Amino acid sequence: MYQKGRAWIELDRKNLASNLEQLKALLPEGCTVMPAVKANAYGHGAVLIGKALQDMGIQDFCVASVREAAELREAGITGQILVLGYTSPQEFSELSYYNLTQTVVDFPYAKQLQAYGRPLAVHVGVDTGMNRLGERSENIENICRIWELKHLKVTGVFSHFCVADGASEGEKIYTHGQITKFDSVIRQLKEKGISGFKTHIQGSYGILNYPELRYDYVRPGIALCGVLSSPEDKTVSAAHLKPVLSLKARIACVKQLHAGEKAGYGQTYTAEKERKTAVVSIGYADGIPRELSNRGQVLVNGYRAPMIGRICMDQLLIDVSEIPHVSPGDEAVLIGKCGAEQITAGELARMVGTISNEILSRLGGRLERITAGMNDY
Ligand SMILES: *Cc1c(COP(=O)(O)O)cnc(C)c1O
Repeated sequence: MYQKGRAWIELDRKNLASNLEQLKALLPEGCTVMPAVKANAYGHGAVLIGKALQDMGIQDFCVASVREAAELREAGITGQILVLGYTSPQEFSELSYYNLTQTVVDFPYAKQLQAYGRPLAVHVGVDTGMNRLGERSENIENICRIWELKHLKVTGVFSHFCVADGASEGEKIYTHGQITKFDSVIRQLKEKGISGFKTHIQGSYGILNYPELRYDYVRPGIALCGVLSSPEDKTVSAAHLKPVLSLKARIACVKQLHAGEKAGYGQTYTAEKERKTAVVSIGYADGIPRELSNRGQVLVNGYRAPMIGRICMDQLLIDVSEIPHVSPGDEAVLIGKCGAEQITAGELARMVGTISNEILSRLGGRLERITAGMNDY
């Protein structure tokens, strides 16, 4: 695969297809996958991932913002695009221009959408206990009144789990409580003669840990990327997920450090003895957490090379003393496989005390993004 830049992301289309099939196999008949491709598809590249999924038969998507939705529409995504987050009244015209579906974040917001004065497609968010977006599930009167707002075309009703990833008894009980509240809202709407809407509540962990649920859509994000939020998570369904993303950068220069010499900003690294170091063309502005300074590793020629000194905005330093034949122009792997070695997003996440989702979604806009396995479809 030809790649010319300083730092880039490679997307494995085969693995994306495989993850999609793995998840589909867990779903009940008739349930539709509506991938969450917010935050540039978790850093992978929303247009590349969206188009690849569309080619694989996916029609519906969800994103966090109207701008993310517009980008997908402009790129040729034709199905339903649900904006999961808040859209300000100043942006309501974009919703109709791009034919998007907006989340009703609560009842007052529904009235603001109505006041726009033109037809808008919406999904009603129901808060079943996360206490984030959505009208509270017990406010059934307000929820029903959304259907009286004549400019709103309600095509869906949804909620969101907050501890579906948890394996403890308490977390399972809480999630079942959320399901009960959601089902109760749906039942009460139907009793009032309100119908014609789709339902959804599961993200990745909702699918993996509650495969018995039967709603119309699921909204997987991180699982489609082929990783778990935390690699040590135990899930009820064992899906064989494969990472879609690899992160690589070019070695810019290789040099010799003498015993006692220091390297990088703040001189936080000192060569104990004669060392061979390399400069890798990627930094914290590309999404490499600065906390990995003097702690992280990269793969070069199938070996692990430790990061040395502070990570810079655009570059970082590694010790390649133990690695034969390292030359400028060689590839360094920050996330992905190299020979028998592999570094996962989860490994980086664990080192800096976060989840893979954060590591991936922060990968920078200036990275080139390319797709491998194009010819396999
Ligand atoms: C981000 C998000 C998702 C996807 O979550 P994953 O855990 O990555 O699958 C689904 N639904 C909502 C409302 C979200 O905000």
